[in-house]
Amino acid sequence: MKSPKTHLFFTQKLLHWNRSSNDRAMPWKFEKDPYKIWLSEIILQQTRVEQGTSYYNEFVKKYPTIRLLAKAPESEVFKLWEGLGYYSRCRNLLATAQQITQERKGQFPDQYADILQLKGIGPYTAAAIASFAYNLPYAVVDGNVMRVLSRFFGIQTPIDSAEGKKQFAVLADQLLPKDQPALYNQAIMDFGATVCKPQSPHCSRCPLRAQCHAFQQNKVDHFPVKEKRLVKKNRYFFYLIASYKDQYYVRQRLQKDIWQHLYEFILFEEPKLMQPDDFIHLGKLQQWLGKKAKMVHASSLQKQTLTHQTIAGHFIHFQLHAPLQSNEYTPINLRQLSQLAFPKFIAQYMAANKHLL
Ligand code: SF4
Repeated sequence: MKSPKTHLFFTQKLLHWNRSSNDRAMPWKFEKDPYKIWLSEIILQQTRVEQGTSYYNEFVKKYPTIRLLAKAPESEVFKLWEGLGYYSRCRNLLATAQQITQERKGQFPDQYADILQLKGIGPYTAAAIASFAYNLPYAVVDGNVMRVLSRFFGIQTPIDSAEGKKQFAVLADQLLPKDQPALYNQAIMDFGATVCKPQSPHCSRCPLRAQCHAFQQNKVDHFPVKEKRLVKKNRYFFYLIASYKDQYYVRQRLQKDIWQHLYEFILFEEPKLMQPDDFIHLGKLQQWLGKKAKMVHASSLQKQTLTHQTIAGHFIHFQLHAPLQSNEYTPINLRQLSQLAFPKFIAQYMAANKHLL
């Protein structure tokens, strides 16, 4: 481990960079309301700032206080979240808002340990809320921070190992100036996002480069070290969009799987990808359609890449001559359809094919 002098160099250079060169603007920056900080942090888990900003603005506009969020119908909150993915965040958001409203009269906890107890909040988010809202001395440690520290200090311990997580947490805590935790945390997060980026970091204009291990050893690409390689699973979805008069058949996904609580059309998951014609020839649609149903459209190949899975498939539209008999799928009209939250795979398709609905 490097000397306290190196620690001081790191902290001072970083804070100087923050004062002189950090022009990263985000609507929640310098926010002191723990509710809004929490909202922004939950939205930003797994989401880029560029994508998350409009969602944050919409949420704050519609639910300016935690009490208003707690009172909102679940379907309305999910609709606002539509397109962001990782819907467990949305479920936790609502559950936590309701818990704080009922048990704490809408007052967000102001101690790190209490914040950490809330659903969907881990050490990183708890440290962000504790430091930004209350200026408590807790260092944030996320992927951005670990990347910066691993490169600068030349740490080989994998960032996704238990040992690595502990090591980075200890180091981050040692580096944190206890008299200005909010400022320092914001600085290192912004620095990781704009200078010491995952790809093509701006080493040539980096104020840390004189003592950066990775830069000095010409090994920036070697850090951070990761233990596990992500293996993506391929899944093939064929959606039957069946309509009878102005009614479409949908269901809510309740099983423990991706897109839980979101809505979908009639789904057939297949072990391999096929052309729509080949899928229709499997004969699986017959039980749903009746003899006189008419096919009106089959889509081109649609794809969505998630963190652990790639979804590919087609949408096939049929007009029915009689209502569908199903306990699983419910008929709804176009106006109701527009109020439900669908996974991005479906929502994007519907947005691009309004003329077919
Ligand atoms: S010199 Fe490059 S790798 Fe090192 S901290 Fe700066 S941006 Fe990151």
